[in-house]
Amino acid sequence: MEQLPAIHFRTALLPDGWAHDVRIETAAGRIACIDTGVSAQPRDERAAIGLPGMANLHSHAFQRAMAGLTGKRGPGADSFWTWREWMYRFVGRLTPDDVEAIAALAFVEMVEAGFTRVGEFHYLHHDFGGQCFADPAEMGARIAAAAGTAGIGLTLLPVFYAQGGFGGVPAGDGQARFLSTPDSYARLIEASRHVVAPLGDALVGVAPHSLRAVTPDALAAILPLANGNPIHIHIAEQVREVEDCVAWSGRRPVEWLFDHVAVDGRWCLVHATHMTADETHALARSGAVAGICPITEADLGDGLFPAIDYRAAGGAWGIGTDSNVAIDMADELRLFEYGQRLHHRARNVIADEGGFNGRALFDGALKGGAQALGVEAGLKVGAPADWATLDPDHVGLIGRQGDALLDSFLFASGRHAIDAVWRGGRKVVTGGVHHARAAVVSRYCMVLQRLLMT
Ligand code: ZN
Repeated sequence: MEQLPAIHFRTALLPDGWAHDVRIETAAGRIACIDTGVSAQPRDERAAIGLPGMANLHSHAFQRAMAGLTGKRGPGADSFWTWREWMYRFVGRLTPDDVEAIAALAFVEMVEAGFTRVGEFHYLHHDFGGQCFADPAEMGARIAAAAGTAGIGLTLLPVFYAQGGFGGVPAGDGQARFLSTPDSYARLIEASRHVVAPLGDALVGVAPHSLRAVTPDALAAILPLANGNPIHIHIAEQVREVEDCVAWSGRRPVEWLFDHVAVDGRWCLVHATHMTADETHALARSGAVAGICPITEADLGDGLFPAIDYRAAGGAWGIGTDSNVAIDMADELRLFEYGQRLHHRARNVIADEGGFNGRALFDGALKGGAQALGVEAGLKVGAPADWATLDPDHVGLIGRQGDALLDSFLFASGRHAIDAVWRGGRKVVTGGVHHARAAVVSRYCMVLQRLLMT
């Protein structure tokens, strides 16, 4: 990877909108200076169309290796819960080496798709049968190593998982590798901070898995460990989860959380699919981010996020690739919009009146995603030097200018129009291909052959 002295864009999307002849200088992985309306200097890298790097706010990297393996219909109705049984069997076989190899591939694919930081919601902590590793953050270290290989920014979210259901139901055998007590979790967080330190700008947040996996006492004990960093939780993804929460507490999940915890802008509520109008407004008002994972939510048959009411109330949101069944920023944003169109039988539903839909999608996900991962969004001085460039000669972008570029990228050309990606001031993707792809794929193939063919 080559350190970049400066780059000149013919046009680039800055926080105030599209600008022409944009020159960016970087220092120590961050944007040091931005000038607009200036010529390129002789040693500058040159690009036609620049977009800020996007945050992928929710990922379980190891699930990338399961993509496409859960499509055989079982007896009776398949659901999130039958998928979860399959996932537990798969995760039960993974070694730390396997996790690193799979995560490296997932992260390489994310960077190629224009994601420059990932929120890794990381719950596989222990060895086979729940045995603790000598270093409690052994698996987190492998995630960090994979992030280093791919050059992606990392907000590591070690997950606190303790119960098998609401009301303190004991965890099942399939969950043994995930479990913590509040004390062991405090040690895990400390160890996680240590293992991500070599990455430079990595963060460690706190992630209670879900209300069904924590007791109220444990939740209260672990939240202070965030120490100002992000707090993520899965919530209200499934109707059965909502029903179980009501049976336990008399409250729906989002309602319960707002009744018992001071939810603020550090929080990311992942999915938040099933909300009443009151819950939707409470989440929007709180300043927290709704973490929407359109492809995974479609794949698992979760339901549809109430996006129109939520946006009307000013709610922040971002996107995540979650199960990584497909890794594609443009596809996530397109499906987010298309789900709403199909449901409401309308077009251009995310845009404000007179605005372009692609721009509204991109800006919303950029701002909310960065907030959820605890970093600055967009191409501005002091922010990470993370961006993607689009190929002006891609047939889907011919003759486009300004916001029509984003509409065409997200709705027509998709990821194939991504030419190069820089992360932390270094070019890591050229011609749509990550510089580490060949080595990462080779290692991944060996791991998958062992996992799936023996
Ligand atoms: Zn998830």
